Amino acid sequence: MPRQITLADGRTVEVDCLSCALTSGLITPTGGVVYESNLFHVHQEVAYPIRGLIILASKRHFYGMDELTDQEQSEYISLIHRIRMEQRKRLGIDQVYYFYNEDTTHHFHLWMVPRYEWMRQFGNSVESLRPVLLHARKNMNDEKNMKSVIEGINKLKAGLCGFNP
Ligand SMILES: [Zn+2]
Repeated sequence: MPRQITLADGRTVEVDCLSCALTSGLITPTGGVVYESNLFHVHQEVAYPIRGLIILASKRHFYGMDELTDQEQSEYISLIHRIRMEQRKRLGIDQVYYFYNEDTTHHFHLWMVPRYEWMRQFGNSVESLRPVLLHARKNMNDEKNMKSVIEGINKLKAGLCGFNP
């Protein structure tokens, strides 16, 4: 299903897949690119201002975990491992929720959502994810938190700089 996207320079383009538009560089994620290889693209969506939140997307357009090539499989796990390590080391993130659905309107991508104390009010495990994201989007886009989110992005960028999965 094609959708209209407005580019930074004001032009409007129609894309079939938002993930393809993002990972090919046609549109820039709001938090900038944290890391990219030939196969994968790592960014944060600051529309959900949670420090250390990461979206890891394939560059290739597909949906199912069983569609990963051998090379993608090994790079995928080593990237997740490295991102998780940097989240712990540089941002002190103790626990992360992982979310991935194959019936996405984008394409293959994994959410890595750090778990913070304030999230407990929305319950645990999978049912808390959407309320947490909505809460962050509605109530946490103040200047102080945004600054901390951007700082987190820069720390993860530094941690992944030069990484060769
Ligand atoms: Zn795509």
